[in-house]
Amino acid sequence: MKVFEKAPAKINLSLDVLRKREDGYHEVEMVMTMVDLADRIEMQELPRDTIIISSQAGYIPLDEKNLAFQAARLIKDRYDVKQGVYIHLDKKIPVAAGLAGGSSDAAATLRGLNRLWKLGIPVEELQRLGAELGSDVPFCVTGGTAIATGRGEKLEAIEAPPQCWVILAKPPINVSTSEIYGKLRAAGIQHHPSTSAIVEAIRQKRFDWLCDRLGNVLEEVTLELYPEVRQLKECMVRLGADGVLMSGSGPTVFGLVSKEAKVARIYNGLRGFCKDVYAVRLLT
Ligand code: ATP
Repeated sequence: MKVFEKAPAKINLSLDVLRKREDGYHEVEMVMTMVDLADRIEMQELPRDTIIISSQAGYIPLDEKNLAFQAARLIKDRYDVKQGVYIHLDKKIPVAAGLAGGSSDAAATLRGLNRLWKLGIPVEELQRLGAELGSDVPFCVTGGTAIATGRGEKLEAIEAPPQCWVILAKPPINVSTSEIYGKLRAAGIQHHPSTSAIVEAIRQKRFDWLCDRLGNVLEEVTLELYPEVRQLKECMVRLGADGVLMSGSGPTVFGLVSKEAKVARIYNGLRGFCKDVYAVRLLT
């Protein structure tokens, strides 16, 4: 038997850090949503008790460091599954980009194996398992649009933002999430985005308010360390995107655009700046 799952990329409409916790994690408050750029995960039953990962992308680990592998092992251990699985990851989401590609693959693997092995695990339990793999995994289990608090694992679903184009651009650098959080001085953050103002913009279906209220406190760190991310943001604003923000810890920058007529110009303008550019829709 074989099952397929789509693993979409996430973007942060806001990312705030409230404080550093005693356990080393940061207490965050984020509004997250998903875009229609997705990896495709194929899972096939194996009679032997083994987990095999393959991918067309040559630059991700295919061993126990892969988050899809970790998801499969977790579910096998917890539910005492003796069969094995062959997992193929057709990667479309750029890696180490701030788009939660690995987390979404892990979440899709949890969902897929729950179906493949007919385990009947409720979604809340899949999210709890996901939290053991990474802070963004519980959100990726259900997707949609949500406010995430705690270290990202406490979720409150909210309605989808007004539909628009999302232009994603990733400069050719890799950014380590732990390095960026490590360099953030939580107590010294100057400008906190307002989660309630973002939620209000979404509820009132005010695309213009949403664009004005986007905010990510990690930009202070990433833009300082990598000036090309700052230049990319400026370039996207110049080209006419309505709202521009870095996603997660970067380096991907996204632009929200309401008018389709503007999309080609912004896309082509950015292609002169970096190779990884995508024009997609929100996944609503
Ligand atoms: P986040 O936004 O959650 O911080 P990210 O988009 O910045 O995630 P990922 O694409 O998830 O980053 O990759 C981060 C690291 O995880 C990479 O260095 C990669 O080697 C490793 N990794 C493990 N499993 C996967 C996977 N299935 N897909 C991509 N990267 C993976």
